[in-house]
Amino acid sequence: MADGSKFERAPKSGEIDAVVVGAGFGGLYMLHKLRELGLSVQGFEAGDGVGGTWYWNRYPGARCDVPSLFYSYTWDDALQKEWRWTEKYAAQPEILAYANHVADRHDIRPLIAFETRVLSATFDEAADRWVVVTDRGDELSARWLILATGCLSTPRAPAIPGVETFAGETYHTGAWPHEGVDFTGKTVAVIGTGSSGIQSIPQIAAQAKHVTVFQRTPNFSVPANNTPLTDKDIADFWKMYPDYIAMVKGPGMGFGGNPANALAATPEERRARFEEFWGVGGAGFLAAWGGIITDIEVNDEAANFVRGKIAETVKDPETARRLQPRDHPIGTKRICVDIDYFETYNRPNVTLVNLRESPIEAIEPNAVRTSEATYPVDALVFATGFDAMTGAILAIDIKGAGGAEIKQAWAEGPKAYLGLAIAGFPNMFIITGPGSPSVLSNMINSIEQHVEWIIGCIEHMREHGFTRIAADPEMQEKWVAHVRRVADKTLFPRAASWYMGANIPGKPRVFMPYIGVGYRKKCADVAAAGYEGFALAKEPSDVHAG
Ligand code: NAP
Repeated sequence: MADGSKFERAPKSGEIDAVVVGAGFGGLYMLHKLRELGLSVQGFEAGDGVGGTWYWNRYPGARCDVPSLFYSYTWDDALQKEWRWTEKYAAQPEILAYANHVADRHDIRPLIAFETRVLSATFDEAADRWVVVTDRGDELSARWLILATGCLSTPRAPAIPGVETFAGETYHTGAWPHEGVDFTGKTVAVIGTGSSGIQSIPQIAAQAKHVTVFQRTPNFSVPANNTPLTDKDIADFWKMYPDYIAMVKGPGMGFGGNPANALAATPEERRARFEEFWGVGGAGFLAAWGGIITDIEVNDEAANFVRGKIAETVKDPETARRLQPRDHPIGTKRICVDIDYFETYNRPNVTLVNLRESPIEAIEPNAVRTSEATYPVDALVFATGFDAMTGAILAIDIKGAGGAEIKQAWAEGPKAYLGLAIAGFPNMFIITGPGSPSVLSNMINSIEQHVEWIIGCIEHMREHGFTRIAADPEMQEKWVAHVRRVADKTLFPRAASWYMGANIPGKPRVFMPYIGVGYRKKCADVAAAGYEGFALAKEPSDVHAG
């Protein structure tokens, strides 16, 4: 049992219908829907509260990059109407409060065993059940296993020589202390300039004595232009809500647009539209012109515009040059959304170190040493990201049919039919898994779609007395090939991004999310066709192709 646990309890055992791993937005809705169906369910969550990403990522400046009004569940109309977001882009405490509110409102908390990590899950072919074992001694047998483990939930810090000798405090943005951190009077090193670094650096710089930012790759970032939400904003949202719902329940959007429009426009027209979208702020900048993600000429125009904005904002030309991204097309790494990020480099207490010119050689007890200089520091902040999309799943010892190990099944990269199910791992579903739109979509919408699809599937199985559903390996291969083909038509594979697994040494380089159009329709068609591409069975020996 975890030391100092808030949750004393006896280990759980016996047979239930479903186990859900994770109590973020995916796990919460899944548990709610399974219980609504009359199933016996058990949720397991490593943290001591709900909220997933928003439970762990409490670093200063943590904020959603999807507008709050759209970062809400759509399945509870009354909740939608009652909950009042205060800002265009909600900060982490408000989103965590929302997750807690939903858990209380729907009494989901009693379904979850907190401070509990799932260690292993083994498929028992004789019973068509998963045997799930946790670090609290639980051993449950469940018909269905649902991994709501999140796409960015396994923080990773690089193995820099000497890091273990560092005498000061060390933090990771993705596992931030719940009591907060006071950097007043401290000299702080921040390593990493992805979304988490870009959000936290201005806040840390406003408090600390000095911040040295160690940047390996500069990133494109668009100002959030965050504002309080007014009554008018909310009234406008409700006016367009039916269209929004029609869109999120529709066939599914992909990336694209017509590059010709941008290229046919005059430089003045192009710039005016970039300015307009820059003024609105946020990730929507990438929709300023069609083709930004698919056509390098259009992309270059957008990238040049942002590089120009960086040069206008950052007073020191050398620092501005270092902050201008040049090694990847804009948007092919997750575009960042910031508040005063580039402005922060005009502060006298902020130094930027370009690790491409002077790499870190070692961390010493009180300093970070690069090939050019030694920087004394009191505290180290790793904003170095996550083992994305696969890390949390591979951290569980999952053995499917015939004892097949998930680590083996995914040795060449993650493979999942529709990003929902893995061949060889029957009765197991992933919420927003690799091969589905997930991290390239509004996560809340994608979570709802997956939960509802899984519920439909379980209902179908119960109605027809099926005890097993297994993705067909050939259909899975076809889907994985399709996911790759679609990605190859875009500029995404040109970046060494976490979408590609490129941030983890040795991780296979495969573009993980699905960016094609019509994903929702495809999932609905599969279900309507009796779960095409799956084999359904009533007993282990009785198999019906779906
Ligand atoms: P990230 O995007 O993977 O960025 C990690 C940063 O650490 C990169 O700048 C990376 O440099 C650097 N890094 C990694 N290893 C390093 C090393 N050995 N030495 C020096 N630098 C190193 O991680 P993140 O910023 O946590 O963001 C991950 C994702 O979470 C985002 O893309 C986004 O999807 C999500 N997120 C969203 C929000 C939001 O909603 N606003 C906020 C935070 C995070 P390289 O680029 O050179 O690898």
